[in-house]
Amino acid sequence: MTTPTGAAAPGAATPRPVIALTNIVKTYAMGEAEVHALRGVSLTVERSDFVAIMGTSGSGKSTLMNIIGCLDVPNRGHYWLDGVDVRTLDEDALATVRNRKIGFVFQSYNLIPRTTALANVELPLAYAGVHPAERRARARLALERVGLGARGAHVPSEMSGGQQQRVAIARAVVTNPSLVLADEPTGNLDSSSSNDVMAMFSQLNAEGRTIVLITHEDDVADFAKRIVRLRDGVIVDDRRTAPVLGPPPLLDHAPHAERYGEVAQAGPPSSSPASTRS
Ligand code: ADP
Ligand code: MG
Repeated sequence: MTTPTGAAAPGAATPRPVIALTNIVKTYAMGEAEVHALRGVSLTVERSDFVAIMGTSGSGKSTLMNIIGCLDVPNRGHYWLDGVDVRTLDEDALATVRNRKIGFVFQSYNLIPRTTALANVELPLAYAGVHPAERRARARLALERVGLGARGAHVPSEMSGGQQQRVAIARAVVTNPSLVLADEPTGNLDSSSSNDVMAMFSQLNAEGRTIVLITHEDDVADFAKRIVRLRDGVIVDDRRTAPVLGPPPLLDHAPHAERYGEVAQAGPPSSSPASTRS
């Protein structure tokens, strides 16, 4: 279990955890052999926590993340998301949970090619059945918030990796999810873009969103409030580095502040071919 160093506010009710996993087992069949990806993982994550999951390649991080994100189901164990046993949800209900409650960010951005940043960000709202005009307005706002208000008309190939990941973050949060999951979101980025992206996760956490992020880089984990280590499908270490209810530890190291300035000065999306690689 965790060893929280930050006490809850006096008199505050114990909040219901966002994530409660007990004895999760996930085994993949590989022909005759079995791969034991998770061998009994129990993990509770409180609302507004910022958790980094670390571990060497093959330790089960992505498998755990896929289960937390309701993209995969365990062979054994229980998972309560926001107090709901996910086994009781049918495919439609799971799809709704994924769309409304959870935002996903992946290492390789997973943006739709030849589709503008704005349209990429609008997509989860389209699935949610939001009216086109509201969709566009909310997508614009989400792009502005990641410092890309002037890039809405650009397609992914016209953007740097860091910019594409910021579009992916805008897409992840446009539905206003309480939980944001990220699997090695800085894995393809240089250190400057990586810091930009982590500053954005810090900002989202400061707004009260729960963040669970996989990384194998210590300086990325430094942004989190708690570090959980996996080895061979089990949790081998779980330490709190900042209180759940406080600000994320590196919130003030926000290197993207000046980018907001840059965006504020920029005009509407230009129709000229972009040369924005950085
Ligand atoms: P990590 O993200 O920490 O690198 P993963 O969760 O991706 O680890 O994988 C954990 C183990 O499960 C690895 O041995 C991996 O090869 C295996 N594994 C993951 N996904 C599958 C799959 N779909 N089929 C078979 N084996 C898998
Ligand atoms: Mg992985």
